[in-house]
Amino acid sequence: MRKVLVGLIAVLVLTGCGDPSPPAPPQTTTPAPSASSPAPTPSATPTSTPTPSGTATVTPPEPEPEPEPQPETGIESGPASSLQVLVNKRTPLSPADYQPELVAVSTSADRDGEAVRPEVDAALTELSAAMRADIGEGTHVFSSYRSYARQTELYNSYVAQYGQAEADTTSARPGHSEHQTGLSVDLMGTSGQCRLDTCFGDTAAGRWVAEHGWEHGFIVRYPDGLEGVTGYEYEPWHLRFVGVEVSTAMHQQGARTYEEFLGAGSAPDYR
Ligand SMILES: [Zn+2]
Repeated sequence: MRKVLVGLIAVLVLTGCGDPSPPAPPQTTTPAPSASSPAPTPSATPTSTPTPSGTATVTPPEPEPEPEPQPETGIESGPASSLQVLVNKRTPLSPADYQPELVAVSTSADRDGEAVRPEVDAALTELSAAMRADIGEGTHVFSSYRSYARQTELYNSYVAQYGQAEADTTSARPGHSEHQTGLSVDLMGTSGQCRLDTCFGDTAAGRWVAEHGWEHGFIVRYPDGLEGVTGYEYEPWHLRFVGVEVSTAMHQQGARTYEEFLGAGSAPDYR
């Protein structure tokens, strides 16, 4: 029985990401400081006060409605099949059970059935080789594509164990997981340090992917301290492929999150 429990915990920890960190002991929830939404709604309520003729009422100048922030690049997130698709707690995949074209991940730790979109596998191979040339170790993917059905199983198991509120902090609802796009991976350095742990961000491999991932089309999707925008805590191991054009633009603009880059607004929760 103990063995079974340990095994179950291991599975949960291993697959907890996509969303956040492994199931942590329930803690008194400190609501993430909701970083100010990048998409302020223009308060365009010009109160048109009819001026009765003859009265010399000075109508204050109407404020110009502020335009919605637009991505300077004109890049839009696009449909589920787009390499630029946005998926978060406020933006589900459409259709919710979308299935991408997949190939086996060449740089997975144990060739255990990891799969991603073909473009992503090619980019991962390049990224791993570049990292190896630079710091002497490559990358190993330990989690990648997850189907709608698989995400449903995972999410339900979290809900059964922790209740929905707690589950939502550690697991994406089906149709809301970026892992379902085939564009996201959880990886580590081949040295295996800090697997699925925030300390990965301080390892040579973690620092390298944060610094150079964009050169190969990847972004660290859930940066430290921006859960108010992304909806997820810091995950230095979760990389999202957006294509080199977008990752380069983000790098040049200093965009910290994909939400900010797209001018899509924060997605701290499911509303
Ligand atoms: Zn992940």
